Amino acid sequence: MAAANLLEFDLDGLAAYCDSLGEKRFRAVQLFRWIHRKGEADFSRMSDLAASLRDKLGAVAQVVAPPLISETVSGDGTIKWLFDVGGGDAIETVFIPEAERGTLCVSSQAGCAVGCRFCSTGHQGFSRNLGTGEIVGQLWFAEHRLRARLGFGDGQRVISNVVMMGMGEPLQNYSALLPALRVMLDDHAYGLSRRRVTVSTSGVVPMIDRLRDDCPVALAVSLHAPNDALRDVLVPLNRKYPLQELLQACARYLDAAPRDFITLEYCMLDGVNDSTEQAHELLRLVQQPWPGASALPVKFNLIPFNPFPESGLTRSSAERVAAFAAVLQDSGIVTTVRKTRGDDIAAACGQLAGEVRDRTQVQRRMTREPIRIHASVPGRVL
Ligand code: SAH
Ligand code: SF4
Repeated sequence: MAAANLLEFDLDGLAAYCDSLGEKRFRAVQLFRWIHRKGEADFSRMSDLAASLRDKLGAVAQVVAPPLISETVSGDGTIKWLFDVGGGDAIETVFIPEAERGTLCVSSQAGCAVGCRFCSTGHQGFSRNLGTGEIVGQLWFAEHRLRARLGFGDGQRVISNVVMMGMGEPLQNYSALLPALRVMLDDHAYGLSRRRVTVSTSGVVPMIDRLRDDCPVALAVSLHAPNDALRDVLVPLNRKYPLQELLQACARYLDAAPRDFITLEYCMLDGVNDSTEQAHELLRLVQQPWPGASALPVKFNLIPFNPFPESGLTRSSAERVAAFAAVLQDSGIVTTVRKTRGDDIAAACGQLAGEVRDRTQVQRRMTREPIRIHASVPGRVL
């Protein structure tokens, strides 16, 4: 029988596993702390566990992150790790150091089924969901590797924020995501506050409600368009969950959210979604998202498009981004423009593609003939 990977478990899961070995819950807590707080993978070094338990674990369990393929460090200090998740697939994890925080951008799937037009992961197609151990493994690996490198002690954390903004749509892998979030938040593990863990979604409406009920963390919604006609093209999931339904789900989420706003991400695509008219349309959308509704409390995060060869799209100029941002800011909505980090190592948003196998089939499918947006929609033909 394959050894159980203990990174698969949140604390309750580990307690259940320990119970199956005839061990009490407090043993699971000790084990959990060794693994996540100290980064220990060798049971024989877990000195306060009974020798019999250490031996037993050594025979039936292990603590392993996905095998590392490469580490690339950008000129701005951003680090990108590529992990092998088997079957010719790789996933990427990115660490972004800043003065006041260290953010880890974590992947949830190998590839992605949503297929957004401007996203390199989407162009790659969907391979498979990651397991909880593969999601947690990215954090476990990164935190402890960086701590060792920086000479940090047990109590000092390097990663202060996690964003589920790597490869994949986290809310299409909910059953693996949920225990992973619980590990991130658990005081016996990483102890991150709910405000510092962000799930970013392209808008899987029923799962936004599930997340609110099960484990509300900060929510970012990838909007990218001020109306359904354009969003249908850019984010195909919009055909299933159109804007009104999505914004209603955001409003429901706010009842339980750790922050009193939803972050709306908007990737700035030159001549597609970046005109000041579209900024005004966006304003109207959030100020009255459905008939009779009051304004939705949101912040905008404008992301300059990070180009990749197959997209056929270009980044909006700094002037167009500034003019778009000014429309939103002038109406009192907090709007930030995301700094592009790590683009010299293809670690910026939407550039993660985990290139390991020949994906020409998928790419041929994705670079099909141009789609025409309905004539009344501002924006050019994609
Ligand atoms: N699937 C989730 C999370 C991963 S994508 C989601 O879509 O929200 C994380 C963010 O990167 C999203 O806001 C996404 O729209 C953005 N993104 C994708 N491709 C991009 C690109 N080429 N340039 C800039 N941002 C991009
Ligand atoms: Fe998937 Fe997000 Fe990329 Fe869209 S932007 S294809 S949802 S990873």
